[in-house]
Amino acid sequence: MERLQKVIAHAGIASRRKAEELIQNGAVKVNGKVIRELGVKVTDTDRIEVNGVQIETEEKVYFLMYKPAGVLSAATDDKGRKTVVDLLPEIKERIYPVGRLDYQTTGLLLLTNDGEFANKLMHPKFEIPKTYIARVKGIPTRESLRMLEKGIKLEDGKTAPAKLKFLSGEKDKDKAIIQITIHEGRNRQVRRMFEAIGHPVQKLKREQFGFLTLGFLKAGETRELSPHEVKQLH
Ligand code: URA
Repeated sequence: MERLQKVIAHAGIASRRKAEELIQNGAVKVNGKVIRELGVKVTDTDRIEVNGVQIETEEKVYFLMYKPAGVLSAATDDKGRKTVVDLLPEIKERIYPVGRLDYQTTGLLLLTNDGEFANKLMHPKFEIPKTYIARVKGIPTRESLRMLEKGIKLEDGKTAPAKLKFLSGEKDKDKAIIQITIHEGRNRQVRRMFEAIGHPVQKLKREQFGFLTLGFLKAGETRELSPHEVKQLH
């Protein structure tokens, strides 16, 4: 569901403001009926006409990217840094990332123009498991990993239970590789969790999002999700 003026603006017919004027002036019909109120919500299946001409609502597209380090998870950046959208092949749809990975975090990132789908996937209620591989400073003890597993107090509250797996550790190099699966998506959550046990993250990669994995993708590469994958996520 999107606001009518937003859908008209996204179809490239007018700015959001102009779209509002068109609506107020009675130039817009939804399913054959003139709508003059602002804020009416429409769905993909509604037929929208502006001055008697039906508008094309944008086709929904879904991508899976292997985000490299040093790229911003956003559609645009006022500081002119490279964004994940800059890495995509030229497409006509205006897409944006589903959630965020930090600037230096690598790994699986979904991108879409389907706002409803993105909101749903990010909502904590759906608890989509996200698996990361973290390289941390030092060798965490079993007890400290257990604390993360049970949930640890951060400034924005206790974290939900997580799953941890110690993959390897090198005492002489003072670092360990740990797999962590969380069901939330708070800002810098994995980094803050490891900081809380005194083992700051040096490198972070998201390997899995729900049932989706990076597969054969290389850093910087993107593939479209199959209709079957999209359906499973919906
Ligand atoms: N947790 C983090 O700390 N950073 C990310 O990019 C993703 C999850």
